[in-house]
Amino acid sequence: MTQRNSVDHAAMRDMNLALILNTLRAESPLSRVALANITGLNKATVSSMVKELIRNNVVREIGVDVSNSDVGRPAINLEPDPEAGYIIGLEIGVDFISVVTVNFAIEVVARRFESTARYFNQEAILDRVLFLLQESYEQVQKRQRPLFGIGVGVPGLVDVASGTLLFAPNLNWRDLPLRDMIRSAIDVPVYLANEANLAALGESYFGAGQESDSLLYVSSGVGLGGGIVLNGRLIEGASGFAGEVGHMTVEKDGLECNCGNKGCWETLASQRALFRRVSEALQQGQPSWITQMIQDDPGRISIPLIAEAARQKDPVALQALAETGEWLGVGIASLMNVINPQRVIFGGPLWTVHEYLLPSIRETVAQRAWHWVQEGVQIIPAAYGEDTAVMGAVAIVYRDVLNKPRRWLE
Ligand SMILES: [Zn+2]
Repeated sequence: MTQRNSVDHAAMRDMNLALILNTLRAESPLSRVALANITGLNKATVSSMVKELIRNNVVREIGVDVSNSDVGRPAINLEPDPEAGYIIGLEIGVDFISVVTVNFAIEVVARRFESTARYFNQEAILDRVLFLLQESYEQVQKRQRPLFGIGVGVPGLVDVASGTLLFAPNLNWRDLPLRDMIRSAIDVPVYLANEANLAALGESYFGAGQESDSLLYVSSGVGLGGGIVLNGRLIEGASGFAGEVGHMTVEKDGLECNCGNKGCWETLASQRALFRRVSEALQQGQPSWITQMIQDDPGRISIPLIAEAARQKDPVALQALAETGEWLGVGIASLMNVINPQRVIFGGPLWTVHEYLLPSIRETVAQRAWHWVQEGVQIIPAAYGEDTAVMGAVAIVYRDVLNKPRRWLE
């Protein structure tokens, strides 16, 4: 065999292994026969690959499929082995750090969530990030299974190729080689990406987007981010910057944004915009339960406070939420016209008040998006709620394990 042929053969084998693993992920439990039917691979190929996957503890046999036992001996079912290995997902938020460890069945086996409000600078936050990662890594090591990798979501622009956080406007961090910093502490594959792009990927793999090939994810918190999955693929753009929907200009002479531009969508549809609306209403003397709670300190306005006020039907809270929902709807309607998604998924820190935002988002979209584009589209809350981005950080590692399983086989 020529060298060219053996290279092709190895590449073909990798593709087939990835096809089998991806099919098992989406449709397990499946028998070998069912796998052959779905993938179009011949039964001998499926058998030999499944054998290799089982030998490496990536796939396991479970029970029997008796659905067509009358035509022969019952088939043994297969599924990805939950103990194949572990994945750590990390989200560095504007004011928090969130870490989860999941097994290969994407069951969370450990989690840590910490506010970073008490840390004053980048160095202190990064020290804490490395500490929490090290702690999670040590827990995985005790389980004596591989750590497939660490996915990291950040609220900013990422150069995916070099693993550099170029600019996080709401942290005011720039040009940080975060991937290499983590990799020099823990020697496993590390994937760095924008948190909203990761969230879109996570929802499409495990969450509210599983049934759709094309989805728009919008995340509202201190900032406003987005992620787009089209035809099953996360849209990354020429340089990996796609999805920065929060910085579309929607008002030519609008408020200044932390990115340096004016009138960005983020200035009207983020957590800050919501807080500003509440604060302005209170300054105008509108009666509200919130007034007595914050005692003249607008810095005490928070999402839990607004959520509680809304539950009590406080008019200031409800009006501020409705207006913020309307502005979210304005941008979502435009984006729907542009990308024609099957689903729109809403997440981020404002997910906790989604029941007050979604009605005005939906109403605004109904008025503004083209009706053909709206046909059959659901606008729904993210399945993972506030965990959407950190589960997305898991998803980017998971995607690579499924698509390049060779690295994990002996
Ligand atoms: Zn901006």
